[in-house]
Amino acid sequence: MIKTDALIIGAGPTGLFTAHQLKLIGLNCEVVDNLDKIGGQCIELYPDKPIYDIPAIPECTGEELTNNLINQLKPFDIKFHLSERVEKVKKNNGNWEVKTNKGTEFSTPNIIIAGGVGSFEPRKFSPKECEKFEDKSVFYSIKDKTIFKEKTVSIFGGGDSALDWAIELSKDSKINLIHRRDEFRGAQATVDKMHELAKSNKINLFTKCQLKSVIGKENLESIEIEHDNKVIKNLKTDYVLGFFGLIMQLGPISNWGLNIDKKTISVDTEKFETNQKGIFAVGDICTYPGKLKLILSGFHEGALAARACFKLARPNEKYRFEFTTSSKSIKDRLGVKE
Ligand SMILES: Cc1cc2nc3c(=O)[nH]c(=O)nc-3n(C[C@H](O)[C@H](O)[C@H](O)COP(=O)(O)OP(=O)(O)OC[C@H]3O[C@@H](n4cnc5c(N)ncnc54)[C@H](O)[C@@H]3O)c2cc1C
Repeated sequence: MIKTDALIIGAGPTGLFTAHQLKLIGLNCEVVDNLDKIGGQCIELYPDKPIYDIPAIPECTGEELTNNLINQLKPFDIKFHLSERVEKVKKNNGNWEVKTNKGTEFSTPNIIIAGGVGSFEPRKFSPKECEKFEDKSVFYSIKDKTIFKEKTVSIFGGGDSALDWAIELSKDSKINLIHRRDEFRGAQATVDKMHELAKSNKINLFTKCQLKSVIGKENLESIEIEHDNKVIKNLKTDYVLGFFGLIMQLGPISNWGLNIDKKTISVDTEKFETNQKGIFAVGDICTYPGKLKLILSGFHEGALAARACFKLARPNEKYRFEFTTSSKSIKDRLGVKE
């Protein structure tokens, strides 16, 4: 049984920054994530995409943000338990006992759930044959955009992800953009830009169409799309990308007796504590009036939840607020020499 001051569930941006905040104020923590890598949605869903609203970082990709957060944790010794899913949580003598699917057990006064959208799964294409090409020519997220260079890419979807990637990849690839409706759900400026590119033939636009079949033996050769009027078109294509959003599954978290509201956990805005003492929820998974599902909100929530953990982890000490610029003990923890 591993004893720790706080256990963080989720190694997305919120879990990472929360770990930093805990270590800064002198608490230990361990982090569990069911993905095989650190970074949550940023690394799983949009590693190459630029983010523009991280304070003081004008532009960085999902991967760069993750690497920066990992670098910020370098002064600290934090154990990450990857490819492990937290399954069971129970109270024992004032502490929480937590067990993962691999049998790792923790005992802690504080659990911080930074589980994002839970175990997330992309919504997939309905034709069964797509499975055969999955992760070779059929993708639901992009990890390395360079593979699409000078290839024909058929992108399905009508939201921001489909539009953003159609615009981005049209610089170096032949793009078919296929959507089952006439209207797109993306930001207006992005929709306008896509229509501009379609007018100048940089994007071939097919609306009111859906994927009917994928054709190829070892390698994907072409796809068939079907219009609402039942006319079927064959398109030669090297790659197929589907952006239909995520199926959010809270998984085991939904059985821990927490106040769940529309697949998110209700918290207070002072400590980000749930209805269970010592269980906090931060980042995309928490909800409260005015909640914004942004990375910067997760950072703020993690900073406050970490301070609230101090009380339960060190009941005989008083937490003292300090700035990093002037605190000797914080500098000692960071290994900064003066
Ligand atoms: C395409 C796209 C673009 C975006 N662009 C922006 C943007 O420009 N600016 C912005 O601020 N935000 C943006 N976001 C939103 C942003 O990515 C999220 O707000 C952020 O990732 C939330 O971080 P998180 O750490 O709370 O959760 P996540 O990043 O979802 O991480 C949660 C982690 O918890 C793990 N987990 C869940 N349940 C368990 C369990 N039981 N056991 C173990 N591990 C578990 C998951 O595997 C996951 O790794 C974007 C999102 C998407 C999809």
